[in-house]
Amino acid sequence: MIPRNPRLAALKAGYLFPEIAKRRREYAAAHPETASPDKRIISLGVGNTTEPILPHINRGLVEGARRLGTVEGYSGYSDEGLLPLREGISRVFYRGEFAADEVFISDGAKCDIGRLQLLFGPEVTVAVQDPSYPVYVDGSVLSGAGGTWTGAGYGGITYLPCTAENDYFPDLSSLPEHSLCYFCSPNNPTGAAAKREQLAALVDAALKKGVIIVFDGAYAEYIRDPRLPKTIFEIPGAKSCAIEVNSFSKPAGFTGVRLGWTVVPKELKYAGGEAVKADWERICGTIFNGASNIAQAGGLAALEPEGLGEIRQLCDFYLENARLIRAALDSLGVSSVGGDNSPYIWARFPGRDSWEVFAEILEKCQVVTTPGSGFGPAGRSFIRFSAFGHRADVEEACARLGRLGTS
Ligand code: PLP
Repeated sequence: MIPRNPRLAALKAGYLFPEIAKRRREYAAAHPETASPDKRIISLGVGNTTEPILPHINRGLVEGARRLGTVEGYSGYSDEGLLPLREGISRVFYRGEFAADEVFISDGAKCDIGRLQLLFGPEVTVAVQDPSYPVYVDGSVLSGAGGTWTGAGYGGITYLPCTAENDYFPDLSSLPEHSLCYFCSPNNPTGAAAKREQLAALVDAALKKGVIIVFDGAYAEYIRDPRLPKTIFEIPGAKSCAIEVNSFSKPAGFTGVRLGWTVVPKELKYAGGEAVKADWERICGTIFNGASNIAQAGGLAALEPEGLGEIRQLCDFYLENARLIRAALDSLGVSSVGGDNSPYIWARFPGRDSWEVFAEILEKCQVVTTPGSGFGPAGRSFIRFSAFGHRADVEEACARLGRLGTS
């Protein structure tokens, strides 16, 4: 037999969400009363969308499938994506600033984050916001760049704390030179959306320090404050230091459809002057055969005026859930941030361990949440509440949260 890849063994624990699912199953097995409707477990834990795809976008998907059954409408591999979709994404989300060949259609942002690591290899220094979406760290560990677990984090990763004290934006003097920096805004899990001057400072630091930013804009369509940038490319200079990954998952309910994109500007170069974009084309051509043509037909419908209206409507629905959750936490005196320009609320439980708070909320309220420590060391005393849920479930969960005030 051959030995196990040691990088798999280096992954500290089970991936966060399977671990939460396991604890939920164990709780349900030990509490048969959770089978009854008033005691049923409600999840405000994961970032999976719950509402149906809205009609115009759904018709695009159906029509895309229908066309595949016709001689004139059939299409095979679409390589880096259907041209109208690449052009449409540039036009709708980037004011037409990118040529179609700088926009790469993917089967989702997470999948591209995994593949992007191949561009930089195991030697690169990685920096992440702490807390952050776990894939940046776990993917880096799998690629070899993360190094080994030291007890407080991975040796190859620089954690940039994002806390109440720094407005959930990292101290950029700690950003290592020549590193690969993952940056997510609006952020999962804190819900913080970086201000224009903050992103400008990040781009400035990246240009000065020879850093490449992987900007994750998966929640951009949740931004309601018009002053907040929706993409890193609103910042001058970003084309020379950033890649952006993005997705139809959270704005259009495509978590199960699978469609995203990555922008690799032609200006982006490695230290040796080679174009990053050329290598990304090579990687996509080598280990990825393109997104589903049906999903892309849905994506095209999403970019039409009716589709953009539906995106707005769907995000507004989840933002209203977020407002309800924050109001419930406020009434308990639990301080929280997020939820106004993002579907996540980051609630603070000073001095407590997040898995312990997770267990208390499950025990008293039969509500599943996400322990902040799963997102990085700075999340130790936080709980992430997700606004992805049916309205009735969110209302019921909010009512039950009232039990936390009692012993
Ligand atoms: N990026 C962030 C920050 C996320 O929170 C998620 C999903 O939760 C993703 C990317 C995954 O997106 P996709 O469904 O396109 O793979």
